[in-house]
Amino acid sequence: MNLTGLNFLGEKRSGNGNQAFRAVNPANNEELEPRYIEATKQEINQAIELAEEAFQVYRHKSGAEKGKFLETIADEIMYLGDELIERCIAETGLTRKRLEGERARTVNQLKLFGEVLVEGSWVDARINTEESSPTIKSMKMALGPVGVFGASNFPMAFSVAGGDTASALAAGCTIVVKAHPAHPGTCELVAGAVGKAIEKTGMPKGTFSMVQGASKDVGMAIVNHPYIKSIGFTGSFNGGKALFDAAVNRPEPIPVHAEMGSTNPVFLLPGALKENKDNIAEGVTNSVNLGVGQFCTKPGLVVYEDSEDAQNFRATLTEQFQKAQPGTMLTPDISTAYRKGLDNLLQQEGVQLIANSEENGTNSGNAHLLQVGSDHFLSNQELEKEVFGPVILAVTAENSKKLVRIAENLQGHLTASLFGTEEDLENYKDLIAVLQRKVGRLIFNGYPTGVAVNHAMIHGGPFPATTDSRTTSVGTSAINRFARPVCFQNFPDSQLPDELKDNNPLNIFRLVNGKWQQ
Ligand code: NAP
Repeated sequence: MNLTGLNFLGEKRSGNGNQAFRAVNPANNEELEPRYIEATKQEINQAIELAEEAFQVYRHKSGAEKGKFLETIADEIMYLGDELIERCIAETGLTRKRLEGERARTVNQLKLFGEVLVEGSWVDARINTEESSPTIKSMKMALGPVGVFGASNFPMAFSVAGGDTASALAAGCTIVVKAHPAHPGTCELVAGAVGKAIEKTGMPKGTFSMVQGASKDVGMAIVNHPYIKSIGFTGSFNGGKALFDAAVNRPEPIPVHAEMGSTNPVFLLPGALKENKDNIAEGVTNSVNLGVGQFCTKPGLVVYEDSEDAQNFRATLTEQFQKAQPGTMLTPDISTAYRKGLDNLLQQEGVQLIANSEENGTNSGNAHLLQVGSDHFLSNQELEKEVFGPVILAVTAENSKKLVRIAENLQGHLTASLFGTEEDLENYKDLIAVLQRKVGRLIFNGYPTGVAVNHAMIHGGPFPATTDSRTTSVGTSAINRFARPVCFQNFPDSQLPDELKDNNPLNIFRLVNGKWQQ
């Protein structure tokens, strides 16, 4: 393995700094080599200044050139081969199968954004020439250098070359990534792959930099730098909110796209419980335990009306939870936080533990099934907060009105799932209407874990799931987070981007005098 302690692209540190840290293998709590050195304020500033300099060049690259760059990053990640997978297993405790799947998702995501750039219509070019003068033309353009923060639980897909980086580079922004201290070696390998792609495709050096760090100072230095024009964050509520607060308190406030935790309520309607309770109990158990419950889309709440079917469902769910396989949690801190979160839930009035599986090994995350009545749930918002790990709270409503009240009382979440029959859907239209205001993705007869990367996906939702519910962090519309519309009034074609020239040299879809045309 060739890990260097590299702090930002092209620069190597001597390794004598005071703020040194190592990754820890969560399967045995052993520290891994090498030491990583936290970037100094001066180095962070240097990386951001390079990003600003590179932006002046990178933003003018054509869609085809930027698309080729993204595709080359994908190729370079694949060329890392097993070294990347093995380092990532050691740093996260995740399985090879899971990480190979996540790598495929990461490279396909980069390639998909590449295709969007080559096609070109994402810029939403609008042209108005109907009045003789002035001509008005507008399109989306890149914001500037972006700070990216990845999460611990997706060391590739929501990390150095994950969704935020792919969409911001696609929009034409340059990037400074804060590496996640739980997987610094994985971060460094992927940063090296991006560096090779920069060289191979002739992009300016500061298009991408990465800084290591295990203290809050590194992240704050990025957010507070005046050249940084937006933040992409995936992680905890506390982290996202702290960065959001810092960003809005800058002399020049900037947008923060923080995708944070979520509890992803699952509503079980009477017809589904009658027809399908055993399958649903198995499916809910699998979804809660997938990735040891460490997904932002893990279902943390299951809500149903009391009935004989519901009691039978709960009995099956209890059996399933008792025999669920535990797994290694991502870090010792996350494992400790899971225990604290469980203790906190169990101390809340009316909450009972009804099943848990056996623990097994270091930092083991074992399944927990808890229950509470609807009145206690409705009077205590603590019960709606995410506990990161394989736990679900079952909430029993006395009747359908209470079920809808529970939905009305919810804060914002990434997803809500509804299990029902066609008849249930007719009978619970008001529930569906309420949930549309609460989440970014509504799922019918399916589980929230597993987020497809495509043109229609929305992975977002009202606060506190995110700090901006108007966008998504997964899927190609994520590109819109890092661009803003710019209008050109009365400019000759010679001074306009190709997207806005009269003869449509790129042959893209544009809104010309109110009609979409190519
Ligand atoms: P995290 O602890 O918030 O860390 C994310 C990154 O932000 C790290 O680099 C961290 O650096 C930095 N950070 C956190 N607090 C900060 C602060 N106050 N100031 C400056 N930097 C700060 O999150 P995590 O444990 O990695 O991820 C797990 C969480 O992510 C779960 O809640 C999960 O649901 C959520 N998640 C959400 C999505 C989504 O799309 N919505 C996807 C995946 C995960 P330091 O560690 O150095 O502080």
